[in-house]
Amino acid sequence: MQLFDLTGRVAIVTGGNGGIGLGMARGMAEAGAAIVVAARDEAKSIEAVRELEGLGAQAVAVRVDVTQEVSCRAMVQSTLDQFGRLDILVNNAGTTIRKQPQEYTLEEWHLILETNLTSAFVSSQAAYPAMRQAGGGKIIMIGSMMSIFGASFTGPYAATKGGIVQLAKALGCAWAKDNIQVNSVLPGWIDSALTRRARRDIAGLEERVVARTPAGRWGTPDDFTGIAVFLASPASDFITGAAITVDGGYSVQG
Ligand code: NDP
Repeated sequence: MQLFDLTGRVAIVTGGNGGIGLGMARGMAEAGAAIVVAARDEAKSIEAVRELEGLGAQAVAVRVDVTQEVSCRAMVQSTLDQFGRLDILVNNAGTTIRKQPQEYTLEEWHLILETNLTSAFVSSQAAYPAMRQAGGGKIIMIGSMMSIFGASFTGPYAATKGGIVQLAKALGCAWAKDNIQVNSVLPGWIDSALTRRARRDIAGLEERVVARTPAGRWGTPDDFTGIAVFLASPASDFITGAAITVDGGYSVQG
C-alpha cells in the first residue's frame, strides 16, 4: 500500500543493532527503506546489516557514540555522503543504571542524560537542515513507561524519558511548517538486552509484568515494526508531537 511505502527513503536508527531498534529497522526495511544502523558495537551492527540485507533492503553500519556531539553530527553527515538524503531519524539508543536516587554519582547522571536525551536533541538538530531542504522528514523518539510513571530505581532514566516526550512536542511544533513530524513511542516491558538484566536482578519482575499487562506477555522487538512503518510513512503526515504507547495495555489497566 502506497500510504505505508518507504521505497527510496533513508532511515538512521541509533541503537539499531539490537532490541527495539532492530525491530523498528526490520519494519522499515521491509517497507522499502535503506537503513543506517548506528551504534558502538561494530560486530553487532554488521550482523544487523546482514539481517536487513536478507530482507532485501540496502543497509550500512555507521559507528556512533551518541554521548558525543561530534559523533552524532558525523553519523548524519556520513548518511548524507553515502545516500545523498535522510528522511527518517529514529532516536532509539538508550541506557540505564538501576539504583536508589541517593546512590547515583553525577557521572552516572550525565551518562544517562547524554545517552538518552542530549543525543536525541543533537541528532535531530543535525538532521534538520537536510530534511527541511528535502521538503519533509520523520523523527521518532523512544520514550518508556517511565515517561508516564515513576519508580524508585530509575530517577535519571525517568527524567530522560519524560524529557524526550516533551522534546518531541517542542520539535514537532517548531518543524511542522517544514513538513517534519516528530513523535514518541512509549514501549511497555520488552524482552531485550536492557531488560534481560532487570529480569535477572529484580526478584518477581518477570511474573509481575505478565500479571500487570492486559496482553498477558512481555513485548518483543517485532512488536515495533508496525509503529515504525506508520510513523516513518506518509500515513502519519498529520500526526506530530504525539506519544504513542506500545505496551500491550500496561499503561491503561486501572
Ligand atoms: P538494547 O540494550 O537492546 O538497545 C540499546 C541500544 O542502544 C543498543 O543497540 C546499543 O548499541 C545502543 N547504545 C547504547 N549506548 C549507546 C551509545 N553511547 N552510542 C550509541 N549507541 C548506544 O535495549 P532496548 O532495545 O530495550 O532499548 C532501546 C530503547 O528502548 C532505549 O531507548 C530504551 O530506553 C527504550 N525502552 C526499552 C524498554 C524495554 O522494556 N526494553 C522499555 C522502554 C523503553 P551499542 O551497545 O552497540 O552501542
